[in-house]
Amino acid sequence: MDDLKKFARYFRSYKLQLAIGIACIFASTAAGLFIPLFVGRAIDANWQQVSWTLLTIAAAKVLGASIISGTFLFLQRRILIGVSRNVEYDMRKELYEHLVGQPLSFFHDHRTGDLMARATNDLSAVRQLAGPMIMYTLQTVFVVILVLPLMVMLNWWLTLLLFVTMPLVSLTVKFFGQQVHSRFEKIQEFFGEIMARAQENFTGVRVVRAYAQEDAEMAAFNSLNWQYAERNLALVRVEALMRPVMTFLIGFGYVLIIWQGVPLAVRGEISVGEFTMFNLYLTRLIWPLIALGYVVNLYQRGTASLKRLNAILRIKPLIADESTVVEQPPIKGAIEFRNLTFRYRPNEEPVLKDVNLKIPAGQTVAFVGRTGSGKSTIANLIPRLLDSPEGTVFIDGIEIHNYPLAQLRSSIGYVPQETFLFSDSVKENIAFGVEDAEIAEVQSAAEIAGLSGDVAAFPDRYEALVGERGITLSGGQKQRTAIARAVLREPRILILDDALSSVDTYTEEKILGQLRGVMRDRTSLIISHRISTVRDADVICVLDEGRIIERGTHRELIALDGAYADLYERQLLEEELAAT
Ligand code: ATP
Ligand code: MG
Repeated sequence: MDDLKKFARYFRSYKLQLAIGIACIFASTAAGLFIPLFVGRAIDANWQQVSWTLLTIAAAKVLGASIISGTFLFLQRRILIGVSRNVEYDMRKELYEHLVGQPLSFFHDHRTGDLMARATNDLSAVRQLAGPMIMYTLQTVFVVILVLPLMVMLNWWLTLLLFVTMPLVSLTVKFFGQQVHSRFEKIQEFFGEIMARAQENFTGVRVVRAYAQEDAEMAAFNSLNWQYAERNLALVRVEALMRPVMTFLIGFGYVLIIWQGVPLAVRGEISVGEFTMFNLYLTRLIWPLIALGYVVNLYQRGTASLKRLNAILRIKPLIADESTVVEQPPIKGAIEFRNLTFRYRPNEEPVLKDVNLKIPAGQTVAFVGRTGSGKSTIANLIPRLLDSPEGTVFIDGIEIHNYPLAQLRSSIGYVPQETFLFSDSVKENIAFGVEDAEIAEVQSAAEIAGLSGDVAAFPDRYEALVGERGITLSGGQKQRTAIARAVLREPRILILDDALSSVDTYTEEKILGQLRGVMRDRTSLIISHRISTVRDADVICVLDEGRIIERGTHRELIALDGAYADLYERQLLEEELAAT
């Protein structure tokens, strides 16, 4: 019920259309009810002797009523289905905005395929709830309200007989409705499962191929697919039974009417015209009753899907601006970690332990350390991709939660460890997030990132499409595109998370040389496994199991002869080995 209340909100902006649409339903239904009246009267008027004039007039009236009813039917469908499409648009928009605003952890907990399933299949089931369901329900209500009194006026006894079958019809509808709901819920759930599986297989196609797992994956998918079909069949079995049962009940109703009605007509207690009229009204009544079965179906599907959509929409973005945040003075770039202890989930072993570090604006700080030591975690805390505990991270001396997210993030150029490029041109990929970037700016960013030489070799240069529909970039080219993207923003804080791991040491040196100009008056965080990347940094921090165990310049750390010196010697040795 809560779900439906929330759903009703989407109709607020369409009140007028809704009202007109409903009026059209009423007009169409009412006009349609004149047809039995005209036919019945024509029969009675011509019973003794056929008058062509009277018949023609009656025919014209029937035609007129049909045209009016049809016209309103057309308007009703256009308006109400139109509203449902608008509601679908609004819901999809809200869903998308909601998803975009979610933190990283949300996408760890929800699989992409499942989210896609909700955004497509479930949304379309909900749309049916908005349009067709409203339409058919009201049609049924209006017909019943209008027709029953007319039938009672014609013959109350025959009408009363209807109430033998009516309760049976509603019981049937109720029973089948429950069945449909639970079965449909299972289907939608499973569809999400299949979508997720397929999506993972497509994105992970390299791994699947490399391990020759096509057959195994196909078999696994097939079994899912078959289970999906089986669940659908379970629904089909119920739905297939529903119609015949309804038809039977309706047929049974006619049995009663003929059984009781024909003798009445023969005895003249009801005229033949009136009896015909009665039967025609009954036919009018039956269609909505059959439609009721369909409506129940739509309703159950719609509410099952609505539940799944709301389950997603209810999740509040964990990282969002507090209502009290205000724009802070422009960020200069001083970063401070104060007694920072961070865990991904409560009650888990912390990933960062008591980190204390002051980085003055404009400095270059490097982090080295074993894999899993917490380097990327530190990097993620600064643009608040992860949320730090209150009072542990400060920028320019201001606690990080006091910055509006937009202000904070627009001051940061972040090159994540795993590069992601959009299926778009090289230019758009570099200029991502910067509106109206001049091509000259894009070029100079690419130059600094050491990418311009590569771009010159692409068929359309900066317009070359990347990804699915275009060229495939090498790992190193992707990384440099990501660096160019960060540089173009001219950020106050530049974060490179292992951003040069896929380029050779020679290219690395060249890029670092060019970046030095950019980094001179900006705060830079450089994370790397290679000593060569970090040796010129103002401060180098060695992380181990979430703690800073050593800090200082390259020289100081070598002199210290600890973990850093160890790493340095090992890498020197490797280089020598590689050289020989
Ligand atoms: P690498 O050099 O391999 O990139 P890293 O130093 O960047 O490693 P982090 O990615 O910061 O290491 O991870 C630190 C620890 O946090 C690891 O033990 C990892 O398993 C854990 N971790 C990372 N991301 C998550 C997450 N989303 N949820 C739970 N634990 C995580
Ligand atoms: Mg990392």
